[in-house]
Amino acid sequence: AAELIDGKKIARQKQDHIGAEVQKLKAEGITPGLAVILVGNNQASRTYVKNKQKTCNRLGMHSILIELSESVSEQELIREIKELNESDDIHGILVQLPLPGHINEKAIIETISPEKDVDGFHPINIGRMMTAQDAYIPCTPEGIIEMLDSIGADISGKHVVVIGRSNIVGKPAGQLFLNKDATVTYCHSKTADLKEYTKRADILVAAAGKANLITEDHVKNGAIVIDVGMNRNQEGKLCGDVDFEAVKHKAGFITPVPGGVGPMTITMLMHNTLKAAKSSISKI
Ligand code: NAD
Repeated sequence: AAELIDGKKIARQKQDHIGAEVQKLKAEGITPGLAVILVGNNQASRTYVKNKQKTCNRLGMHSILIELSESVSEQELIREIKELNESDDIHGILVQLPLPGHINEKAIIETISPEKDVDGFHPINIGRMMTAQDAYIPCTPEGIIEMLDSIGADISGKHVVVIGRSNIVGKPAGQLFLNKDATVTYCHSKTADLKEYTKRADILVAAAGKANLITEDHVKNGAIVIDVGMNRNQEGKLCGDVDFEAVKHKAGFITPVPGGVGPMTITMLMHNTLKAAKSSISKI
């Protein structure tokens, strides 16, 4: 049976460490500050944003929430971001996605100063990540690597199969594994015969957003299975992309949902905000 990767516990340990670093920085007169912009009334977005703020405050960071109406113009949103780019109290800026259809998401992301882009979505940070330079890394993939580090997993030379190719999860996750010398295969909605690939994975990352996509016969004996999915099953319960009960007998390690990748994601946002605050010092 697989060993459980306890994301909650790993996240808590990492957060304790970040909290201590925040205190040190505060003693030097700098309080890390995160600004979150929430547009419209998407309930899921609202919950995510609340959790981010709560964690910020618990770790002693400063956080502000800017709420804008669903009908806000792209220009007005850009103006808000530019103001935050200039603010000395704010080190990280996050625009909660998705945005309403009339707003160009790419234009918004490119308005955020790359130095404050704690989500790591700005093309400059993506380019830096691709060329293995210092960068803000998208929080979910960064959290996955952190989890694997914490169990001492070997990545170099391993075959990693990533299911999903979104700009925020799948693509950057594969890139990070490549940077660590893994052999990476990307699968996605157009992949013919998913199982042919997944069953050869030493490390399988499922980020498709499809409940029970991954069953026992998709998984190699002893594989590390990272379940990024956040889905609701028929009973309305939160579940991942992996049929946990079936796969846990075959995998070597497995992450649960909830309590796996989710807590790591928010932790890496805190990590990135701390990093942004630290690098602001060297710029004074
Ligand atoms: P997305 O919808 O943007 O991308 C999904 C990807 O999966 C696409 O690239 C698509 O090609 C692929 N896909 C869809 N169906 C597939 C199938 N049947 N077979 C193979 N590939 C398939 O989603 P996303 O933003 O990348 O998020 C993926 C999942 O991860 C969602 O469930 C989301 O809620 C979850 N998520 C969790 C966290 C977290 O912190 N735990 C963070 C971000 C996203």
